Amino acid sequence: MLAYTYIKEGQFRLLDKPKPVIQDPRDAVVRVTLSSICTSDLHIKHGSVPRAVPGITVGHEMVGVVETVGSAVSTVRPGDRVTVNVETFCGQCFFCRHGWVNNCTDSNGGWALGCRIDGGQAEYARVPYADQGLTRIPDSVTDRQALFVGDILATGYWAADIAEISPEDTVLLLGAGPTGLCTLQCVLLKSPRRVIVCEQDPLRRAFVAQHFPQVLTAPPEGLLDFVRSHSDHGGADAVLEVAGSPDTFRLAWQCARPNAVVTVVALYDAPQTLPLPEMYGKNLTFKTGGVDGCRCAETLDLIAAGKLDTTPLITHTFPLREIEAAYDLFEHRRDGVIKVAITGAES
Ligand SMILES: [Zn+2]
Ligand SMILES: [Zn+2]
Repeated sequence: MLAYTYIKEGQFRLLDKPKPVIQDPRDAVVRVTLSSICTSDLHIKHGSVPRAVPGITVGHEMVGVVETVGSAVSTVRPGDRVTVNVETFCGQCFFCRHGWVNNCTDSNGGWALGCRIDGGQAEYARVPYADQGLTRIPDSVTDRQALFVGDILATGYWAADIAEISPEDTVLLLGAGPTGLCTLQCVLLKSPRRVIVCEQDPLRRAFVAQHFPQVLTAPPEGLLDFVRSHSDHGGADAVLEVAGSPDTFRLAWQCARPNAVVTVVALYDAPQTLPLPEMYGKNLTFKTGGVDGCRCAETLDLIAAGKLDTTPLITHTFPLREIEAAYDLFEHRRDGVIKVAITGAES
């Protein structure tokens, strides 16, 4: 089968590899019908994910059809259409039992697919702990609608949930990349009074303005004044930092009002400074981390009900055999690209 493979730093290549097989009774093998490219894939390509193992098939954002299941798998059957969760988790350890699946203590726990084990930019993928890692897609939901459920939409849903947003709030969201846009949709589900999206790229600000006319947009320059003049208590009541740019962590806490919750979803390239003397008396609460992606069934229900729709993010579609061109477009942000969908090989 075709599998896009991490060869070495700076190099991915489409190779012919054997089709994966069940290795553990809790595994399933999924025929990938649609996958996507994530910024994290680029981080692997450029050597900034030391855990990534050369030789693995990349890709961790995908949907497909269950091909085979191990004897201990009980929640999905061959023929089921499923989303695949970016995180591998056992469902039984201390952290999993609390819903903190990002910190699953299993040796395969956390981000394994397309990083430490073969992933989904391929015709087939083996998914460990299939009862936890796969979620059945309702019949009324298409592959394109479900594509981001296991990764960037899971992140947005989790972030909006921990951000403690209430209906009187002015919410500031930093970053309108793919994960920021998923987070925005999940923030809007909480119906806050106002949402301000800060984004550097004018094309992405225009995308927000076009699809979410109720949202205010602003560039980072002059953001503090903008937020102060569009909020009721001298700053945002809740801030979600999804940009990860050199200045956005500082902007996040500066634009927050006293006693606000600042939720940091972004992954930074460099350490950030928490200047406690400067923020003394502001009494902020910071929440940080990687997604606990265990609520895929809830997000699929919201998609089925028409309350979430991430299909406008899919600006381009390529077949798997042309994935090289898809990466080139995504990496160099050409042609207004937000997300690229990769269609599986015809069965
Ligand atoms: Zn990802
Ligand atoms: Zn666990």
